[in-house]
Amino acid sequence: MALVDSFQRKIDYLRISITDHCNLNCTYCSPPFSGRRYLERREILSYEEIAVLAEAAVAAGITKIRLTGGEPLIRKDVVALCRMLAAIDGLESLALTTNGIRLKTLAKPLAMAGVKRVNVSLDSLQRQRFARITGRDRLAEVLAGISAAAAAGLAPVKINTVVMRGVNDDEVVDLAALTFDKPYHVRFIELMPFQHAGVGEYGRLHIPIGEIIHKIPGIDTARVDPFIDNPGPARLCALPGARGNIGFIAPMSWHFCGSCSRLRLTADGKIRSCLFSNDEMDIKTLLRQGAAKKELVEFFASAVQNKPRRHQLSENGHGKAERGMYAIGG
Ligand code: SAM
Repeated sequence: MALVDSFQRKIDYLRISITDHCNLNCTYCSPPFSGRRYLERREILSYEEIAVLAEAAVAAGITKIRLTGGEPLIRKDVVALCRMLAAIDGLESLALTTNGIRLKTLAKPLAMAGVKRVNVSLDSLQRQRFARITGRDRLAEVLAGISAAAAAGLAPVKINTVVMRGVNDDEVVDLAALTFDKPYHVRFIELMPFQHAGVGEYGRLHIPIGEIIHKIPGIDTARVDPFIDNPGPARLCALPGARGNIGFIAPMSWHFCGSCSRLRLTADGKIRSCLFSNDEMDIKTLLRQGAAKKELVEFFASAVQNKPRRHQLSENGHGKAERGMYAIGG
């Protein structure tokens, strides 16, 4: 079965947020630890519920699943969940997006459980700056986690950096240089106007992708043309002599909605068909009312039909998404 939306896009990718808790507090992503309201335990899908929904999603046509959060690796027994999901017949790829802090311990067990790849978020290679952005002095653990992921075969390890003016834009070259020694993929991402990158802040911090690209000497700009045919949102290129590659993701400057293949499932059981739309469909209630697998499969199919043609955020940050990324699942 294939899931095709009303604009003929094939939807085969589901991102599942498994918690809204995080052990970091990135300024642009979540409110300060002290001011956060967490979902209550009963509101959050259990692992068994996630597995039932994932199975229905795969029966509906999903072939790739990525776990995210909050920070997915701080949820207890996450390896057991990965093992359950990796065993779903028809699932081709299970991946994770993480801040990397727990990867040193978990990379190998995750790989053994069936996880194929990880994306690690890393906004600075400078210890104090990392602490300022994330609220925690844990850069060394993240770097150790990245090495552990590569050693465990969770490859290619993708490193995701949100570039912000006056915060870390002077590190673009240093981060790109990580691709020389190791076959890492480093991806630069435009800041998006979520709740905690408020409109005023956002205007000051956001750097259009074209400006980011031009900070890296040696980039073949023709390769990162937003209009070249390329699956997925990243436009890729490699620096001469590098082992890994560099990607650029520009949800604001380049609308890539035309090739969007994603659905999201939030930790509290809502399907979100567009990262930036505040419309959500409650599949948890249906599941907890005892719905049969067939009904859940049909629910995924109807969520796909509700997927908007493109997001409605404007580049100046107006119309920003109401939930922060930590609460939706980035
Ligand atoms: N804790 C995990 C991590 O750090 O990767 C997964 C969740 S986090 C919400 C996923 C990604 O969302 C991170 O790479 C983070 O940088 C990104 N993100 C959060 N808020 C963002 C924003 N306003 N603009 C762009 N990216 C954002």
